[in-house]
Amino acid sequence: MDRTSELSGFYKLTPEERLQYVKEFAGLTEEETEAIAATGSMKIDDVNRMIENVIGTFELPLGIATHFRINGEDKLIPMAIEEPSVVAAASKAAKIARAGGGFYTTSTDPIMIGQVQIVDVPDPQSARFKVLEKKEEILKLANEQDPVLVKFGGGAKDVEVRVIDSPKGPMVIVHLLVDCRDAMGANAVNTMAEAVGPLLERITGGRVYLRIISNLAVYRLARARATFPKEELGGEDVVDAVIEAWAFAAADPFRCATHNKGIMNGVSAVVRATGNDTRAVEAGAHSYAYYKHGHYGPLTYYEKDSQGNLVGTIELPVAVGTIGGATKVHPVARASLKILGVKSAKELGEVLAAVGLAQNFAALRALATEGIQRGHMALHARNIAAMVGAKGEEIDILVQRMVEMKKVRMDIAEQLLKEIRGEK
Ligand code: NAD
Repeated sequence: MDRTSELSGFYKLTPEERLQYVKEFAGLTEEETEAIAATGSMKIDDVNRMIENVIGTFELPLGIATHFRINGEDKLIPMAIEEPSVVAAASKAAKIARAGGGFYTTSTDPIMIGQVQIVDVPDPQSARFKVLEKKEEILKLANEQDPVLVKFGGGAKDVEVRVIDSPKGPMVIVHLLVDCRDAMGANAVNTMAEAVGPLLERITGGRVYLRIISNLAVYRLARARATFPKEELGGEDVVDAVIEAWAFAAADPFRCATHNKGIMNGVSAVVRATGNDTRAVEAGAHSYAYYKHGHYGPLTYYEKDSQGNLVGTIELPVAVGTIGGATKVHPVARASLKILGVKSAKELGEVLAAVGLAQNFAALRALATEGIQRGHMALHARNIAAMVGAKGEEIDILVQRMVEMKKVRMDIAEQLLKEIRGEK
């Protein structure tokens, strides 16, 4: 066969025909081909409608995080993720939080921003005012595009106008604030932004360019708060250690990227399990981490309450839906929503915030306490080494070996000391 990737009509083939081509192209075995062709809970026709050039599916483990109590209600949390330890860490954190009453959450209305870029506006500042004067007309036109959303209490609710400086000169940027109810909203918002384009051109005398949703969803925020009792953490030392670990992220973008990545380990696993768009939520989280602080900073905050317990909070944008996208098409996504028992996108967003906080706390605790334990272990090992009669550099070698072995004991120390002296 001619090994080419120039396949103009590839999209017209059936998934089976495409897979056959790929099999020959790449020399896939029968076993490999069958692994790709297996569709699990989905029908190949549904899969084929979801994206382009489908040849099969890619499976991921689905795990359940336990112990979550959110606003007084017990929840099992479905998580779709390939990374080990994430589900266990979330469960462990939720267990500790549970001892402090669990997670308490709130959220804003599900408002997304649709951006309309207007260039070549002769008088951008007065154009800004003119757009605001026509707000009702703009909103009416936007809402005509989605009567279903309006019927459910959503729709375009407000207009903001910004004049920004760009490398190509000033631009007028109109924001349509759209309440998306239970949809993530990208399609709804994009349609509205496109529809108001010609009207905005007439109002401003400029030229409309991009019309697209923003993933920096600053008006669609979910928040969670939890108290992690100091006794459950292993004492006030550990509370201090977690706060110190968090402070590192607050002061350093290199650490902070990993800090926020840890939050998204949990958040994205639930976003994925419910058939939502992980990239939309990830983009929102990281851009908000910048927007909120004026520099890249952590999405969480930690402090000590009057009793010395650790109190953690998180606030992040949650562009997720319980209708639309793959949420209703994917059978496992539908089942995941049922497991969560969420009735609205708002509730789902709040679960995400709780999971993000749990995941972050688990990571900080592990990092901080491993550090503490290693420190303790080294101190203890030093004492033991001295007790068995080690001198000078023998002590350092003995400590290092016992810590590596994670066995700090007199008998081991004696044995090691004999070995070290024998080596000389
Ligand atoms: P959608 O268009 O499939 O469904 C939303 C529509 O459902 C609404 O417009 C409304 O008419 C109707 N609806 C029925 N009941 C509703 C209720 N209770 N609440 C709200 N709406 C209700 O989905 P969507 O949410 O507009 O789009 C989501 C998809 O768009 C995701 O799959 C995402 O991957 C994709 N996307 C994302 C981006 C981005 O993030 N930048 C850009 C483009 C597309």
